[in-house]
Amino acid sequence: MAVPRLPSRGGLIEHLGEWMAVNQEERAYRAWKVLTAVAAKKDGLITYGELGEAINVHHRALRYVLGVIQAYCLDQKLPPLTILVVNAQDRTPSYGFIAWDATDLPEGLRKVRNHPWNESENPFLYASKGETEEELAAELDADPGKAEDIYAQVKVRGTAQSIFRKALLLAYQGRCAICGLTFEDALQASHLIEWNDCSPAQRMATCNGLLLCATHHRLFDWGYITIAPDHTVFYIDPKGRDGKYSNADTQVSTALHGKKAFMPKDRRHWPSAECLGWHYKAHEWKFEGR
Ligand SMILES: [Zn+2]
Repeated sequence: MAVPRLPSRGGLIEHLGEWMAVNQEERAYRAWKVLTAVAAKKDGLITYGELGEAINVHHRALRYVLGVIQAYCLDQKLPPLTILVVNAQDRTPSYGFIAWDATDLPEGLRKVRNHPWNESENPFLYASKGETEEELAAELDADPGKAEDIYAQVKVRGTAQSIFRKALLLAYQGRCAICGLTFEDALQASHLIEWNDCSPAQRMATCNGLLLCATHHRLFDWGYITIAPDHTVFYIDPKGRDGKYSNADTQVSTALHGKKAFMPKDRRHWPSAECLGWHYKAHEWKFEGR
């Protein structure tokens, strides 16, 4: 389900052509390099004009590039890197900057300057040759065998996770595998074999993933729910004996026990027996005797 959006007007429309025509992630790749270099300098700041010149983007269009980087830092709980970009007049960030409390900029700057940015890859590396997350997700959806290659192109966990989610959204046609919920913003990518135990290929392999709503993702990760090799949903307390269940609790748990999970049309994206087995084994003791 696509959540209704407010109609955009005025300033947004003005720049829509710009937004659609360019690959903001490719620009973000270049801006990331510049900003992390600025962060490494004591008292380093950069004006919109200087950044625009450095990456060859008109300063009025910079907000889109900075928006991509800001969203990435927020999502990954990184210090607010875009705090370094300031107006020439007052040396403060512009109104589009929302990643840090504007009343305590010095603390945000301190965090950004102390962060070891050079210890991890540029998260937009995949875009350096002009590819977008959507294109990589579509490639993965079309050919699940490319998981390892695509992971090698991306390397950074946050970006890999985002592309993986987009590929699962395509494969599962935007439905939670357990309950069928289709609110896209509430759907997440879950790994069967956990990230730290995965081979590089398994990190991006759709057969090691499930598209789940936020609630089922959490219940699945905690081992309240698992999925059998024949795709039957198993809930840990099928008869609801372990506590009081509200109607809402029942709907997301006992009511789904024994039902078939929603699987992708393309069988190559189905969770593999190996990966399902790994999840079951990790939580087996909770299901024994049930
Ligand atoms: Zn669900």
